[in-house]
Amino acid sequence: SFEFADRVERVEPSATLAVSNLASELEADGVDVVDLSVGEPDFPTPENIVQAGKDAMDAGHTGYAPSNGIPQLREEIAAKLQGDGLDYEADNVVVTPGAKQALFETFQTLVDEGDEVVLLDPAWVSYEAMAKVAGADLKRVDLSPHDFQLEPALDELGEVVSEETDLLVVNSPNNPTGAVYSEAAMEGVRDLAVDNDVQVISDEIYQHINYGKEHVSLASLEGMYERTVTINGFSKAYSMTGWRLGYLAAPEEVVSQAGKVHSHSVSCAVNFVQHAGVEALQNTETAVNEMVEAFDERRQLLVDLFDEHGVDVPEADGAFYMMVPVDEDDQTWCTEALEEAHVATVPGSAFGAPGYARISYAANESRLREAVDRLVDAGYL
Ligand code: PLP
Repeated sequence: SFEFADRVERVEPSATLAVSNLASELEADGVDVVDLSVGEPDFPTPENIVQAGKDAMDAGHTGYAPSNGIPQLREEIAAKLQGDGLDYEADNVVVTPGAKQALFETFQTLVDEGDEVVLLDPAWVSYEAMAKVAGADLKRVDLSPHDFQLEPALDELGEVVSEETDLLVVNSPNNPTGAVYSEAAMEGVRDLAVDNDVQVISDEIYQHINYGKEHVSLASLEGMYERTVTINGFSKAYSMTGWRLGYLAAPEEVVSQAGKVHSHSVSCAVNFVQHAGVEALQNTETAVNEMVEAFDERRQLLVDLFDEHGVDVPEADGAFYMMVPVDEDDQTWCTEALEEAHVATVPGSAFGAPGYARISYAANESRLREAVDRLVDAGYL
């Protein structure tokens, strides 16, 4: 028999999986499930990106790539980041198979057994798991009472962050809430991080999926470049979830340490996928804007539909998620909504926000209407 390492035993399986397993079972029985649980755009990858991937394969880019990424992509990423007011050069970038891997490498690089990591709840499920695998002690600040905004919670954050804190994770636009943190909120984070000498992960994977509020990259604020690891990727903005392409950007000392975890685990991100990534960064603005516009229309449609039924959802300025207030026992609400109304959502408690269900509006308008109708007909709204 096996003897498992503590680092895996202290991690729970993904709570979102329970929903998708149940949804799959229902679907296998022939039930039409409206699945609003998935965190992936429903659009195909833009054609020019697909073509660039095929061309790269035809051109023979099918071997190992340089571990930290092909030079063209690292340069293109650096240029993109510089356009956002960030000082990164190509040497500051590690290209990874998905932002998730970039985050995993960052936790492995910065967190030791017993280190204090602060999360803002609700938080994407994998931060906790990655922090625990690295051995962190977690502290959490709940943004739920503040409509999921960070600015009104800065005092509470200030009570939690101390000189004992090693790492703070910030994710704006946010999964699961869609919140985009204000400039004042980010400046508050900066002040706390600088005063207490705290390292910060800024996960900006939903940066482009923003409905008009200014996106603030933490590393662009004074005093933050040298303590921030910026995470971004291609999955959400370019609808490239299955290609697995993301990156971290950080001062060179971080790159050389994280680069060791990277080269000894994944070796490199897929070679031809990286070539497709260059095309995505160079020539996809129109397609991205069209997708964002479509998300925005759905977002407004949902707000209106919920409003018609007297359900007030906190304003979501980014990403493609919304937190719908449901019963206190959100796990039961979500299970029953799936079993009886055949609408799949994710319980807020999976993200540290009980009493809500996260819905993803990466689904077309008729499915969204169908979902709300079903929830209303079955008495859930
Ligand atoms: N960060 C957040 C907040 C996410 O929601 C996700 C995906 O769901 C990721 C990172 C990872 O994305 P990927 O590994 O597909 O680049």
